[in-house]
Amino acid sequence: MLVEGYGCVLKDQFGREYLDGNASIWTNIHGHCHPTINAAITEQLGKVAHTSFLGFTHEPAIRLAKELVDLVPGDKITRAFFTDNGSTAIESAVRMALQFWKQNGRPQLDTLIAFDRAYHGDTLGAASLGGIPLFKGSGNDFGYRVLTVTNLDELNALAAEERNRIAAVIIEPLIQGAAGMRLWPQDMLKTLNAWCEEQDVFLILDEVMTGFGRTGKMFACEHEGVVPDFLCLAKGITGGYLPFAATLTTERVFGGFLGDPSEGRTFFYGHSYAGSQLGCAAALASLRVFREERVLEQLPAKIVRLRDRMSDLPGFRQCGMIAAITVDSPDLSTGAKVCLAAREHGLLTRPIGNTIVLMPPLCVTPDEIDRMVTALKAALNDVCGGSAVTAGLR
Ligand SMILES: *Cc1c(COP(=O)(O)O)cnc(C)c1O
Repeated sequence: MLVEGYGCVLKDQFGREYLDGNASIWTNIHGHCHPTINAAITEQLGKVAHTSFLGFTHEPAIRLAKELVDLVPGDKITRAFFTDNGSTAIESAVRMALQFWKQNGRPQLDTLIAFDRAYHGDTLGAASLGGIPLFKGSGNDFGYRVLTVTNLDELNALAAEERNRIAAVIIEPLIQGAAGMRLWPQDMLKTLNAWCEEQDVFLILDEVMTGFGRTGKMFACEHEGVVPDFLCLAKGITGGYLPFAATLTTERVFGGFLGDPSEGRTFFYGHSYAGSQLGCAAALASLRVFREERVLEQLPAKIVRLRDRMSDLPGFRQCGMIAAITVDSPDLSTGAKVCLAAREHGLLTRPIGNTIVLMPPLCVTPDEIDRMVTALKAALNDVCGGSAVTAGLR
């Protein structure tokens, strides 16, 4: 049982301390129990915790929408739609894309392109886009089609009659998370964006994992100068404090839903806790910490340190503050065994098969990075033996 946390440290019921090596499943940004975020939530609690976002709005939501769209370079992104988790951030983007075309002159666009090994969430619609059978489930008849491609060559090779039905392309930019931290080739995103613009189909970016500094910039799409039609954000949006999500989009998409209510152009999508006041307060506080503590400015040195300490490990790869290794073992539970062993050395993380991820809160100190990697190496040594670590396991 985890009972307490501060910074990158989590404490169990026996008072033992661990370093949070996967940022509490990729959500935590500024550390646990951050005074600024704690104070903002407490202050909001003193006013009101939650009011319905259906037919009402409130100041924290208005401020947050403005801050979020201003964070995206350029002026293409102007609107924010709030939900309460990553899966619904994706679902609302997909449903907006499909409904937009349906009521704006291209109702034949019924197909979504997703990538092999993608992960976009666990709810049925988000899962329908997934390329991982384990998370996908069995149902897949939603009144739209999902075509899975492996790479841009396959996308380019689609027959014209397929191409002419595409409503949107969805991708995790730069790196696929749940697939085991798979990096896309450099410039792939830029090329995909150009393709989407040429075809006039929407580009949906799933930045649920990569958003909020994780890759070294505020959003991963900035690395390739891309601004999508839909930018889906969740996990780190509140600094890892509360369930909250935003789907950012363009004035063009927003405009496609305007009209007299009798025309039925409304986007009917509103979860009970969408736009929660507490969530907005936490998200605003997290953005304030980014500014006050100059979080992004400090990342390059941390990214280099992660690489320096880890690059001798087998299958090492990195995207900003995401680092992963893969243990080449026929036993598919080796990754889990290494993570269990790491607990004994004071490190918490979680495997994806035999891939082991180090993805600390962005506030991690150089010393904590060193201690996390030392613990990981000790765990590898416990499970795989010393030669495996030094010689590389593949
Ligand atoms: C975690 C994740 C999701 C789903 O977010 P939930 O809040 O768990 O529903 C979607 N896409 C990516 C890339 C993720 O990492």
